[in-house]
Amino acid sequence: MSLAAEPTNSTNRMPALISVVVPMLNETGNLDAFFRRLTTVLDGLGLPFEVICINDGSSDDTLERLLERQRTEPRLTVIDLSRNFGKECALSAGLQESQGDVVVTIDSDLQHPPETIVEMLAKWRDGFEMVYAVRHQRVGQTFWHRQAAKLFYVIMRSLSDVSMPADAGDFRLLDRAVVDAINRLPERQRFMKGIFAWVGFRQTGVVYRQEARVAGASGWQLARLIRFAFDGLTAFSTFPLTIWMLFGAAISGLSFFYIVIRFIVVAINGVDVPGYESTIMIILFLGGIQLLGLGVLGSYLGRVFGEVKGRPLYIVRRVYSAGSPDGDTAAPAP
Ligand code: UDP
Ligand code: MG
Repeated sequence: MSLAAEPTNSTNRMPALISVVVPMLNETGNLDAFFRRLTTVLDGLGLPFEVICINDGSSDDTLERLLERQRTEPRLTVIDLSRNFGKECALSAGLQESQGDVVVTIDSDLQHPPETIVEMLAKWRDGFEMVYAVRHQRVGQTFWHRQAAKLFYVIMRSLSDVSMPADAGDFRLLDRAVVDAINRLPERQRFMKGIFAWVGFRQTGVVYRQEARVAGASGWQLARLIRFAFDGLTAFSTFPLTIWMLFGAAISGLSFFYIVIRFIVVAINGVDVPGYESTIMIILFLGGIQLLGLGVLGSYLGRVFGEVKGRPLYIVRRVYSAGSPDGDTAAPAP
């Protein structure tokens, strides 16, 4: 499986095998252009490679098109998942299957230019164990999408335990040691950006220009993006849980002073009947705070529930590879 790691600061090392992991959901329109550009780059490197495509429950003919290719290209492995599990799980499936001592994760919509791999590999040869690609420019995204992304990184950086480089996505080159570490993480809810940051290792970035999607539509809707951001926050920060303690302490303290003051006022001036508004306001305010706190608790509890069930991250319908006994082809690896 894993190949013996050479000293990480060696500048002469070359990977014995490069794995390229590509999650795919309804990418028929992009396939030809994607493979054309990717193979040009990989052939140019002159190193042995494998491409692992994960069909994440596509409803178009992505799978058929992939299998067509796979029949004549033994270096292509196709993992067909039993339904749509989401990009993060599809990526995990690909990382599990990968054999290379260098693994590249890349989108199939050509928003991640395959040409960047050359530069990333150079960084790996310099001794870095993870090279993430940083978007120079977010093309084809609305103003609000960009602002939301910016806000997300600001919140994440100030609240969570890990520091995530801004504008670095899932386009990465990983050393075998990093892949093994990620594969060992048991959590069900895979927030990959956070996981990549959490595992550590020597990391660096290279800049690329993000292109607009070539064909098809992005699988991300606004509601999904918000859920994604919230997942990231709750997976890597307990701040939302603890902030309610501060709120509670502050409100209890203030209430205590208020009670003492009222007590003295009543002792001196006698009972004064009006006070309906303030009572109602306090009840409403505290009720709101309590509900909020409960909601936050509930969302963490929901995560715990998900983890405790211990279901697998994804289910594979079938793996089509040159080597596998249930694969479609019996062609020997090159
Ligand atoms: N993708 C996937 N499963 C999903 C959503 C997306 O495998 O549920 C793949 C998709 O085919 C593409 C990559 O993940 O290769 C990025 O998806 P997309 O372009 O929709 O995301 P964006 O570029 O907007 O982040
Ligand atoms: Mg995309």
